[in-house]
Amino acid sequence: MLRKVLLLAVVLSLLFYVTCGIWFDMIVLASPREAEYVGIAKYYDNRKCVVTVSLDDLVHNTSAWENCLSMLTRKRIYHTAAVITNYTVGVIPGLNRSTDWNYIQYWVNQGFTEVASHSRNHVHTPYDGRADKWIIINRGVWIPTVSYEWQINGSKNDIIGNLTLPAWWRYGEREYVYAWIEPYGSCDSTARRWLGECGYLCDRGFRPHAPPDYDFAAWDSANGLFSTVGYSVEMGTPRWGGESSPQSLNHKFEVAYDNGGIYHLLAHPTYVDWSEGGYADQHTDYISNRTDVWYVPLGLLYLYHWVDVRNVTHVSSTGSGQNKVFRISIDETDHENYGVSYPITYVFKIPSDWTTVYVYYRYRKTDPWILMENKSSEDFFNGVNASRFDLNDHKAYVSVGFSDISHEVYLQLRYTPLESTQVEESPTRFGWWAVGIVATVVVAATAIYLLKLKSQRSGMSLRLSGYDLPWNRMCKWNLQTLFEP
Ligand SMILES: [Zn+2]
Repeated sequence: MLRKVLLLAVVLSLLFYVTCGIWFDMIVLASPREAEYVGIAKYYDNRKCVVTVSLDDLVHNTSAWENCLSMLTRKRIYHTAAVITNYTVGVIPGLNRSTDWNYIQYWVNQGFTEVASHSRNHVHTPYDGRADKWIIINRGVWIPTVSYEWQINGSKNDIIGNLTLPAWWRYGEREYVYAWIEPYGSCDSTARRWLGECGYLCDRGFRPHAPPDYDFAAWDSANGLFSTVGYSVEMGTPRWGGESSPQSLNHKFEVAYDNGGIYHLLAHPTYVDWSEGGYADQHTDYISNRTDVWYVPLGLLYLYHWVDVRNVTHVSSTGSGQNKVFRISIDETDHENYGVSYPITYVFKIPSDWTTVYVYYRYRKTDPWILMENKSSEDFFNGVNASRFDLNDHKAYVSVGFSDISHEVYLQLRYTPLESTQVEESPTRFGWWAVGIVATVVVAATAIYLLKLKSQRSGMSLRLSGYDLPWNRMCKWNLQTLFEP
């Protein structure tokens, strides 16, 4: 009788904990309570559409440039100014002074202006030492093309040497010029090779009669940068043709917006009416301050795209549950050559029962965790480290750039906040099994103890001299009891 009861207790206990283990596996592990990495969003913060602006021939302060840069900055539209870095006075009508770095620095400091290279002296390719005709004002006068190195690497060094670039274009002491704007839309295969070698990622062409372009350019693996970048429309009234009707400009933006494309507005500011209430004012009102649009300068748009399509970052994870830690890393050479300070948006799938998410990040394994700012789809923000959640779609969009202090970013996505440096461990599968086994032993031992007590009180004969027996005697007694008829 006693033996049967004991055996039954042991069997039932085991069954109970095995069932618990299976239940834990099925319910908890099948729908893991932890974030899963999905990939990089096509656009920052998973925005619907992109607006970028490129502006040709910046040299010094003119009323057109002043009005243009003020308007775009006031409306928070990021833009890329193509600077001629060693300007020969007179090459372009209306520009009659040399390159004014103080003026350019002022606008860079306002936070919405990126500087692109537009060569040193705005000549046609080939840059082979022969002179290029000074075609605009003094027909028949020739200016030097010098060399590819001088035009392409030299102009980049002029920008880096004369300006202090903001954080998005920096990695420690290094500074970057990502965008090249072709003078006269003129380029050749040698220029393309030099562009790749000098660390440019984007080369914007100029084709006044080409159809509107709303897409990224493809990667050119031979030269190590993107193929020539097109644009959606030129705003203004230059002699080679542009668009100056607000309706038709707005329509081109809508095509990009409706199709999730890139609206790339081009302008030669000298040929645009920037007056209040004019077409430029109306159109820039229409395209600005939208929370579902990513406003980004051209070079940074392509830096982001490069990270995405060239698989520049690698994501791995350790731990589980909400203590799972994601490690995003970049190759040291890529980091040094291109910086990648601009935030990249990593997409995570989050458990369907998470109603809040806390995202923490740090740049080194030993640093304290930093709570990332959380933004909503109602907020206007671009190019900041931020997290945004879509709890209907169970997605977290985590935007974070690399820092000066490491080649990695660590992330944690949790449903409860971190309270201290002590990270609480959630039970794992093996943890639950260990609990089950220990509990089985405890239940079985208690059952034996209670039954033994009961049998003693009822006068049943037991070959036992006391309870304070050593463990080996206890075992012996247990076996003897169990096998007694
Ligand atoms: Zn130009």
